[in-house]
Amino acid sequence: MADIPDQCSPAYEEQRLTALAGYEILDTPEDAAFDEIAEVASLICEAPIAVINFVDRDRQWFKSVKGLGVRETPLDISICAHAILQPGLFVVPDTTLDARFINNPLVTGEPYLRFYAGALLESHDGYPLGTLCVLDYHPRELTERQRFALQALANQVMAHMELMKSHREQARLIAALQTARKELTRQAATDPLTGLFNRRAFQRRLAQELALIQRGAPPAALLMIDLDHFKDINDELGHQAGDDVLVGFAALCREQFRESDVIGRWGGEEFVVLMPNTETAAANCAAQRLHEQLSRTVLLEAGDAPGRVTVSIGICSLREGCHASERLKAVDQQLYRAKAQGRNGTAAEPG
Ligand code: GH3
Ligand code: MG
Ligand code: MG
Repeated sequence: MADIPDQCSPAYEEQRLTALAGYEILDTPEDAAFDEIAEVASLICEAPIAVINFVDRDRQWFKSVKGLGVRETPLDISICAHAILQPGLFVVPDTTLDARFINNPLVTGEPYLRFYAGALLESHDGYPLGTLCVLDYHPRELTERQRFALQALANQVMAHMELMKSHREQARLIAALQTARKELTRQAATDPLTGLFNRRAFQRRLAQELALIQRGAPPAALLMIDLDHFKDINDELGHQAGDDVLVGFAALCREQFRESDVIGRWGGEEFVVLMPNTETAAANCAAQRLHEQLSRTVLLEAGDAPGRVTVSIGICSLREGCHASERLKAVDQQLYRAKAQGRNGTAAEPG
């Protein structure tokens, strides 16, 4: 409330419209909860017309209307636009005796409105948004009880709108939290440099695959890939160049392996691949393709000779009764064998 400017200033009107927009009520469909309030207002005030009305920038829009055939009118013929300029109840006992409305087309022509009583719909922070109003075709007054009831119903309209607003805000908050949680889960499972699964996430996928195999899924293959003489690259070209090679190699792996294969960064310059539903021979073919592809690829800076980066690969199979830790040891042994055989090659566990 502290910074609310003068009520007639454009700045105030902008703040008022922002407050109104915050309720997301304009142009929403008819709603029984609001229709019932308008109906009760009409009954209690014994008026043929009752409207829940919001004053927009250049129109008044009716959330609920009883006894009138329209859902909005231009603002220049609105009586409510006058009503929201003052607090509490605004009553015009006879529109033809009021200079503000005497020439209003709704007064001089159809539907010949003669009586108006509007209770302010006020936002929780004090902005007038519209009115709950009743209208009649002849001059009249409201009793004290009717005045009280009309204002009480207007307060109920706002209470309902505040509730709807806080439900929406809550739903948005929950959605944002869910997105943040998903992102956190993704980050917790991802190696930040390469975007591949990290060791922990890969181990979880490996355990899942072994459980599936235990329940009858076909055997899978496990590959461990180590970049050859990677320390030399770091030493010669710097750590950043080394990082670029790791990123480039991860991208190459994504291209080379199937969508269903799980690729992880085991640590440092070591990578692991889980190939579901794959026999060792087929995994060997995939490994050969990777060697060939590397021999044609420039992973270091542009202009460098292709094939400068090579890898050694170990392969073992995952079958019923296997344990993850034992298989990881086995594949590491095969990788060690590939290194011992001179690097830039693959060694597979005898199938
Ligand atoms: P080998 O052929 O026997 O595998 O030799 P190598 O040089 O690849 O193996 P070694 O284990 O001696 O060195 C691995 C190097 O990888 C040492 C380490 O600094 C480097 N390294 C590990 N993680 C990263 C990383 O995230 N970025 C970079 N640039 N280098 C890394
Ligand atoms: Mg290594
Ligand atoms: Mg290495």
